[in-house]
Amino acid sequence: MPPMLAWDLRKFLVVAALSLRMPAFAWGPEGHRLVARIAERELTDKAKVRIAEILGPGQSIAELASWPDEIRRSRPDTGPWHYVDIPLDARRLDMARDCPKSQCIVASLEGFEVVLQDPRASPERRKEALLFVVHFVGDLHQPLHSVDNHDKGGNDVKVVFHGRPTNLHSLWDSGLLNHMPKEPELFPQLDRQAEQHRKKWSQGRVEDWTGQSHRLAQKVTYGKLPKPGADGAIVLDAAYEQAADGVVAAQIEKAGVRLATVLNSCLQ
Ligand SMILES: [Zn+2]
Repeated sequence: MPPMLAWDLRKFLVVAALSLRMPAFAWGPEGHRLVARIAERELTDKAKVRIAEILGPGQSIAELASWPDEIRRSRPDTGPWHYVDIPLDARRLDMARDCPKSQCIVASLEGFEVVLQDPRASPERRKEALLFVVHFVGDLHQPLHSVDNHDKGGNDVKVVFHGRPTNLHSLWDSGLLNHMPKEPELFPQLDRQAEQHRKKWSQGRVEDWTGQSHRLAQKVTYGKLPKPGADGAIVLDAAYEQAADGVVAAQIEKAGVRLATVLNSCLQ
C-alpha cells in the first residue's frame, strides 16, 4: 500500500472509532427514522413529488433523517441548532434568554422552513434545508433537547437501566427504544396512533411544540427520576420506564404528524 493511502486509511479508522464513542446527540437513528416514516404516510402527493425532486432518485427522508447528526463533527457550527436550553425550572420558552444569536433548534427550524419554500434557493441548499427540517422536528420532540439542567442535556446524569450503566440522554435517545418492540412491530402501532390523532396534533407551531417538550422534561424525564442511591447511581425502576416509554411513543407519533404538516405546507 502506498504510504499516503495507508495514512489516509489509518486516519479514517481513527475517526470511525472515535465516532462510535461520540456522546449521544438526539433520538438515535431508529427514532428519527420512525418520525420520518410516520410523516411519509401523511404527505400530500404534491409534497411527495417535491421531496423526490429535491432528494434525487433512490433516496428517502426516512433513510437520511440522521444526516445532521452524522455531519455534526465536521460542521461544529451546526451543533447548537439541535437543541434549545430552556432552564429546567422556567415556565416557558423565552427566545431572548434561551436562543442567543438565533443559534438554537427553534430558530434554525424556522429558518430552514423558509429556505425550503424558496424556489430561488439552489438545489444543494434546498436539500440540506429539507434534511435539517426532517431531523430537527424529531429532535424537538426529544424532551432533553428543550431543557437545560446544567448537565449537558442529561449526558452527565449517570443512571442504571436494566442493570447496565448509561446516562440520561443516551437512555432517552435510544436506551428506552431498544427495550420497546422492534421497529417492524413498533412502527404500525405508532402509525395507527398518529393517524387517529392527526387533527389534534397538527395544531400549533414550533414554539408550542418546544414548550410541550420542555414540560415533559419537567414532569417525566427529570420529574419522575428516582432518588440516587448511597453510591450516587440512579437506578431506574419499572414505574419510570413505563412513564418514559409512554412519552417516547407519543412524542415520536406527534413529531411524525407535525413533520408532515410542515412539509405539506412548505412544499406546495
Ligand atoms: Zn440531532
